[in-house]
Amino acid sequence: MIQRYDVIVIGGGIVGHAIAYGLQRQHAYTAILDGGDTDFRATRGNFGLIWVQGKGVNCPPYSQLSCLASTRWPDFAQRLRAETGIDCGLSQPGGINFFLTSETLTSAIRNVSKLQLGQPGFSL
Ligand SMILES: Cc1cc2nc3c(=O)[nH]c(=O)nc-3n(C[C@H](O)[C@H](O)[C@H](O)COP(=O)(O)OP(=O)(O)OC[C@H]3O[C@@H](n4cnc5c(N)ncnc54)[C@H](O)[C@@H]3O)c2cc1C
Repeated sequence: MIQRYDVIVIGGGIVGHAIAYGLQRQHAYTAILDGGDTDFRATRGNFGLIWVQGKGVNCPPYSQLSCLASTRWPDFAQRLRAETGIDCGLSQPGGINFFLTSETLTSAIRNVSKLQLGQPGFSL
């Protein structure tokens, strides 16, 4: 039997799944073709951090997108729980960076100050 889809997404890591999830919400009949269970995939190995500081210091659109994603996570996690019954365990208590020299601390403050300009979600 031949299956027909509106869209076939190649790769079922977080990016492929996010694209497929968005497409099916737009009523596109979508399939994901992924590798084997034992394939190395970044999605499986990552630390699970929603990290905004340091993202896009020299690229404001990247920084803005990171902040937007971070602020949208709670609604998204709630929706995923409602749709799947799975609690993804979202927790956003903030993060701690350790700096062992005053130079790296000063540089980090400079970067965060840059990111802070006009953006919610950053505080020193
Ligand atoms: C150690 C580590 C820690 C990280 N920590 C964080 C973090 O804390 N926070 C964060 O936001 N990001 C983190 N990242 C980055 C994040 O994990 C990646 O940016 C993200 O998972 C990439 O997702 P992806 O879907 O593009 O790739 P992948 O997860 O690698 O998915 C690619 C998929 O494509 C499939 N594939 C490949 N070739 C084919 C093919 N020819 N046909 C079919 N399928 C194919 C693979 O099997 C795989 O499932 C971390 C990354 C690493 C490596």
